[in-house]
Amino acid sequence: METRNYRFETRQIHAGLNPDEPTGSRGIAIWPTAAYRFRSCDHAARLFDLSEAGNIYTRLQNPTTAAFEERIAALYGAVGALAVSSGMSAILVTTLSLAAAGDNIVVSPYLYGGTHNLLRTTLRRLGIDCRMAASEQAADFEPLIDDRTRMIYAESMGNPTCTVPDLEALGEVARRRDVPLVVDNTFGAAGYLCNPFEWGANIVVDSATKWINGHGTTLGGVIVDGGNYDWSNGKFPQIDGPSEGYHGLNLYETFGNAAFVVKCRVDGLRDLGCAPSPFDSYLMLIGLETLSLRVRHEVESARKLAEYCRRHPKVRNVSYVGFDTHPSHDNARKYYRFGASAIFTIELEGTLESTVRFVESLHLAANMTMIGDSITVVTHPASTTHKQLSDEDLAAAGVTPTMLRISLGLENVDDLIDDFEQAFTHVE
Ligand SMILES: *Cc1c(COP(=O)(O)O)cnc(C)c1O
Repeated sequence: METRNYRFETRQIHAGLNPDEPTGSRGIAIWPTAAYRFRSCDHAARLFDLSEAGNIYTRLQNPTTAAFEERIAALYGAVGALAVSSGMSAILVTTLSLAAAGDNIVVSPYLYGGTHNLLRTTLRRLGIDCRMAASEQAADFEPLIDDRTRMIYAESMGNPTCTVPDLEALGEVARRRDVPLVVDNTFGAAGYLCNPFEWGANIVVDSATKWINGHGTTLGGVIVDGGNYDWSNGKFPQIDGPSEGYHGLNLYETFGNAAFVVKCRVDGLRDLGCAPSPFDSYLMLIGLETLSLRVRHEVESARKLAEYCRRHPKVRNVSYVGFDTHPSHDNARKYYRFGASAIFTIELEGTLESTVRFVESLHLAANMTMIGDSITVVTHPASTTHKQLSDEDLAAAGVTPTMLRISLGLENVDDLIDDFEQAFTHVE
């Protein structure tokens, strides 16, 4: 269904919802199929040549997944989207579609841990040089860019510090230096809180595991193509040049401004195989129907719980991007609806041991490493994600022994405040 003229809340329900002709089913069908029958050998040949669009094999496309992709593209106002099996696959497929051995990428220092390892270690071993800017400021990115740079990469809100880069300034650098700007917009909740395309991003990747799914049930990722990059500048022969995998077909000439997302599908998914299951795409579609309602509730609850923590004598410090004491407060106000997300960190008074006691005394908030779930999550980086680091490395990462990351869920926030209140009685 064409939903361009509707607002976000309407698009999140109606985009991709194409009525099923024979059955009249309102629900989107789950198509559990690995392959699709061709009408003829000639039909098959046209599909394989990409001269006709259609289903071949679920590693490349699936009708349930296509509905999810249509909905994501509609939410972002993008030319196309590709669903993959995790957020990490989205980042991997995107990077390998843009850069090869001998090229470099210029990235923000505030990266999700998995991304940090992928870009700095694994892809470096493949010969892609990852250059990390000294800060999230555009002025620190620009000197690292040269004629072999194939991507500028940042997160629209960094994890766990909630650092928000000046997206517009990064977009300007990207345009001036003619390099695509790729933004991990996991925290931007599929464009509801933040839409990087409005600020000059060319490609967005999301971990759909988080707010898109929203219920902690499924891993997934999406790659979204803004259709706003000119691939004909000679830097991307794999997109604007004869395609080895398709008898010399030029993707840019054939698919125009959707060439990048086509490239990710027809080479990326075909060769790397990180396709989502149709059942998982179905769960993503159901999750998206309530995205704005969930996120709005979570952001409001985050503010209330952060305010409660700020007043509590056993809390040393609250780092919440919605407070004007946070270094990214102004950028969050500019780029994020409500000026905040559903995440904040606190530092408790006391020790590592008393912090562990606090976490273990919580009844409602779950001790996990997860964000964007319908249940509230409290993560203790020092005993989980950052456990292997020395005290000096912990300090460099901004992680202290008593720091906790909190991701708000859908509970009544007063119950969460009560839960925190009783857990504080267990720490001195
Ligand atoms: C979780 C996360 C990822 C990785 O996504 P997975 O779905 O877990 O593979 C990437 N970036 C950010 C910002 C994340 O929070």
